[in-house]
Amino acid sequence: MTKRPALALLLTACLALAGLAPAAAASKLKVLTTTEDLAALAREVGGDRVEVEAIARGYQDPHYVEAKPSYILKLNKADLLVVVGLQLEIGWLPPLVTQCGNPKIQPGASGYIEAAQFADILEIPAGQITRAMGDVHPLGNPHYWLDPRNGLRIARGIQQKLAQMKPEDAAYFEQRFQNFSQRMGEAEKRWDEQMKPYRGRKVVTYHRSWPNLVKRFGLDVVGYVEPKPGIPPSPGHIVELMRMMKRDNVKLILVEPYFDLKTPNSVAAQTGAQVVVLLPSVGGEKEVTDYFKLFDYDVNLMVRAFQAAR
Ligand SMILES: [Zn+2]
Repeated sequence: MTKRPALALLLTACLALAGLAPAAAASKLKVLTTTEDLAALAREVGGDRVEVEAIARGYQDPHYVEAKPSYILKLNKADLLVVVGLQLEIGWLPPLVTQCGNPKIQPGASGYIEAAQFADILEIPAGQITRAMGDVHPLGNPHYWLDPRNGLRIARGIQQKLAQMKPEDAAYFEQRFQNFSQRMGEAEKRWDEQMKPYRGRKVVTYHRSWPNLVKRFGLDVVGYVEPKPGIPPSPGHIVELMRMMKRDNVKLILVEPYFDLKTPNSVAAQTGAQVVVLLPSVGGEKEVTDYFKLFDYDVNLMVRAFQAAR
């Protein structure tokens, strides 16, 4: 009999503590993003007023991420979920979001945003949309963060969302965005200058990850190792690709880090081209820790490859 009141007291004390805990934790918004690129942009504008975490790692193919139970725990605690959208995450994210049961971040809720709405999207298909051909880009190209201008637009969109969720920090987020925008302007001048001598150069890429990047720097993608996004190369397709590469004197094959290099290496050996493993995401290599370092890395790599190809 004497134990019951003690237990009740303990419970009351726990509840009181639990009541206090959310108030203390509420000082920082928990932002969860599907990719490290979106996390990097959220950190730029959120600064130390938000906690930012990404689900997928930058060296993983964002179309095919293996779902882990730990992702559900992360989703469960998030105040805001930022996704790439355009069905990039369709193969792994929707069941996790449903299972986590967090009402704040369900599609349609105010804590769920698709970054695609802020960006310029390329390769939007005309006519009827069908996945019958195995195309994993049915709504337009979802690798749009690879144009620094889109990064800026996404950062602006996230900043406005954060301001809406935490109006008392709106001025702080705005100031962070202005600072990011200024640093981006300076970095973009540098990248444009570095890539200027190579405008108009023809390249081949493995997957269609790079339309925004090549458009920005004036490169010309004339073929793909994959016949269609998400479809592995067939021997016939590779023969045709090599014929075209020899005819057009293509010297560079850009490959994402998560594809097998066997086919690209063999194509390179037979056409006199070189394989360049370019990073589509922050975190693709250890030293690529933010959005600026991603373009620094890729631009330097392309410049070196074009110089070697002369
Ligand atoms: Zn893709």
